[in-house]
Amino acid sequence: MSADVGSVPDRVVVVGASAGGLATAEALRRLGHEGEITLVGNESHLPYDRPPLSKQILTGEVDPDQLLLRPPADIDALGVDLRLGEAATGVDLRGRTVTLAGGATVGYDALVVATGVRPRRLPGTEGVRGVHVLRTLEDALTLKERLRRGRRLVVVGGGFIGAEAAAAARGLGLEVTLLETAPVPLARAVGEEVGRVLTRAHREQGVDLRTGVAVEAVLSRGGEVTGVRLTDGSKVAGQDIVVGIGSHPNTEWLQDSGLLLDDGLVCDEFSMAAPRVYGVGDVARWHNPLFGVTMRIEHRTNAAEQGLAVARNLLAPGARRPFAPVPYFWSDQYAMKIQAYGYLPGHEEVAVVDGDLGTRRFTVAYRGGDHVAGIVAVNAPPKALRAWRAAIAARQAWSAAVDEQARKRMQYRSDIIEGFLTGTGLDLAPP
Ligand code: NAP
Repeated sequence: MSADVGSVPDRVVVVGASAGGLATAEALRRLGHEGEITLVGNESHLPYDRPPLSKQILTGEVDPDQLLLRPPADIDALGVDLRLGEAATGVDLRGRTVTLAGGATVGYDALVVATGVRPRRLPGTEGVRGVHVLRTLEDALTLKERLRRGRRLVVVGGGFIGAEAAAAARGLGLEVTLLETAPVPLARAVGEEVGRVLTRAHREQGVDLRTGVAVEAVLSRGGEVTGVRLTDGSKVAGQDIVVGIGSHPNTEWLQDSGLLLDDGLVCDEFSMAAPRVYGVGDVARWHNPLFGVTMRIEHRTNAAEQGLAVARNLLAPGARRPFAPVPYFWSDQYAMKIQAYGYLPGHEEVAVVDGDLGTRRFTVAYRGGDHVAGIVAVNAPPKALRAWRAAIAARQAWSAAVDEQARKRMQYRSDIIEGFLTGTGLDLAPP
């Protein structure tokens, strides 16, 4: 990639006014940038927090006005040209302009792309009432209102959205069926061993969890959803369906720009996509030199951290620093606070390093090559988590971090869980 990193920009345009875009604008001001900042967002709301949308907004523990990332006065104090309700439709790298849907163009010296992702949808469900995705405040409020009716909910996809929405709906007393194509929900994110623990938790809480099944058709009558038909021919009735089957990065507006797009905006280790163009948050696929891989992280903390890192690099083009974080995420399901540090995809081995998979308090370490690549902890104390984060950041050797004893316990425990699941009829195969 070109080493032309330009000079300190005067005019910065940030496209995307959610956690990543706001973090970039705030960091620019905090670090002393006095030039123009334009923050463009296609939603009409001030920047708000999304993690509660699939959890506390549904249960009513958090009100929508508590979601604002900053009070309006703090946003005013930033002195940014805030263009809400305006989508960016194109960028001209040569002319250094961004085009907005209304036809206006905004010039920049540096462009930050923080346009996030949008949910994948089940084909043929547009306009069918009762079929929900969860990305925006409106999505969450519509679902919340529907859940209050206390009818049957079908959740398609056992990823984060699906697992969290199912847990929230069970908390509200609804009957919930959770459908997942893989044998173990969340296995791609946290591995099979921890995925099985979560499987058990959902079943114990009364979720009708069906794995290894796919939706063939969404059934509706008079424009209202009535259920789904599965590929094995069976039907599941439901008056609401939450679809949590992953996302698409919002890069269509960059299609003709000449920027490299490949499941996200491709960036180097400095989060730079091209001279004067940077990526932040869910939309950015960047090379993380700590792990030596290119990754795109759809978790809240990364957006904030990358925004800060990009602001630093924009203001110090001669002393740019690679963005090499230890990714972090959390998820709340029933009484479980699940937290993870590191990069888990492609891990080669896991070991229980604290607690017990048979209880709801444990820490599991993940090996990638010779290093500790990550951990997942359920209900773990913050101090222990910090120590593991430091070990991952330091690329500590696996053998030093995880002793033989812990590995043996892991094997023993997963045998017991396997036996429990199969021996009690709670097997992982579709019913
Ligand atoms: P996700 O976490 O990627 O999970 C999607 C799940 O749906 C996967 O288990 C996937 O299985 C399954 N799936 C895919 N197609 C399916 C189909 N046709 N029928 C049934 N299951 C299907 O995506 P998500 O839950 O939609 O969440 C969207 C993004 O938001 C994710 O990146 C997620 O990390 C993020 N998010 C994060 C949090 C958090 O950090 N706590 C909370 C909510 C959302 P395969 O893996 O086998 O394809």
